[in-house]
Amino acid sequence: MADAFDMQGLRSPRQALEGLVPYSGKMPAGKLILAANESPFNLPEDVRDILQVTAADFSFNRYPDPLAQDLREKIAGAHDVSADCVLLGNGGDELLLDIMLAWGGPNGAAQRKMLQFAPTFSMYQIYAHALETEVVNLPRSTEDFSIDIAAATTRLQQGDIDLCILDNPNNPSGNLTDLADVLTLAQASDALFVVDEAYFEFSERSMLEYLEQLPNLVILRTFSKAFSMAGLRLGYVLAHPQVVDILTRVRMPYSVNAFTQMAATVVMDLRTKFNYNISVITKQRDLLYAELSNMDGVEVWPSAANYLLFRVARSADIWQRLLDSHNIYIRNFSSAPGLEDCLRVTVGNDRQNEMFVAALRESIAALDNEEPN
Ligand code: PMP
Repeated sequence: MADAFDMQGLRSPRQALEGLVPYSGKMPAGKLILAANESPFNLPEDVRDILQVTAADFSFNRYPDPLAQDLREKIAGAHDVSADCVLLGNGGDELLLDIMLAWGGPNGAAQRKMLQFAPTFSMYQIYAHALETEVVNLPRSTEDFSIDIAAATTRLQQGDIDLCILDNPNNPSGNLTDLADVLTLAQASDALFVVDEAYFEFSERSMLEYLEQLPNLVILRTFSKAFSMAGLRLGYVLAHPQVVDILTRVRMPYSVNAFTQMAATVVMDLRTKFNYNISVITKQRDLLYAELSNMDGVEVWPSAANYLLFRVARSADIWQRLLDSHNIYIRNFSSAPGLEDCLRVTVGNDRQNEMFVAALRESIAALDNEEPN
């Protein structure tokens, strides 16, 4: 087979990596970033004050506790589960990789299978490809991004799916799958069933109450969104101890650094302080949804998270104009499968959202007035 990598002076990596496009999260400098579903709010000032004082005497020379036992117990207590049901990772992203390492991968001459419902969070597919896992895709409705529960149940009942990942609410569409339907799917087979609840604090819908009865359920959460900690990288899973035990076999030993462990402990202790910001974000989301719904030429989908997906004609040009003429950077899905002419905007604070709405209005009008070439 021809060598598609064209390496200079070294041998090629695994064939499975051919054609894999890296996930690029790099944001342009000096722009209003409404592209990564981060919180528009930094950590509260009293949290930052504590971090500053603690940083002064911090033992940066020591390795962190590998499993972050104190923090793990705190998180377990907050969810009313035992500590062996909790595993922390370097963002939800690392835990998704651990899950794929353990439940995906080659299977003799064949590959193990991951079921997903696209369009959805792209890392599932990236990790699946990198780890030679077959992706079985059941596309979401082109109208409202819902899942065909009967078809998905039937597919799972075939018994050959090793791992199913359902994003709830779904990124980038923002819609929720009913918990009763999620339960039906989780019970349809013995596949590891991951419910990605990265945006739980905005949606307030969780499968947590079913954790005890479902040995195959994994709930994924993150501190990157509602808890303003995207830069510190912390995510966690809630699952049966047998699942956590398997994941600890593949995880990197010190993936959650000591400073992040300390910061998250402070955040957990003061977590009620985040409720106000969360309510501001969901209110702002609903206002932004109303604005976009009333805008000529824009189709917007309701969202249970902190972002909105919308469709607009000439979306790639609109995206570029928002960036070049208005210094606003949102997420461009114009040419992504199932998301043609779609853009996704992260909900910002009131001023940022006003700026975005004005910029979008101007961009649509400017392109409407442009001479067709
Ligand atoms: N799941 C979903 C659906 C996400 O949107 C994200 C962040 N983009 C993650 C998981 C991972 O987040 P993090 O690694 O920052 O915890």
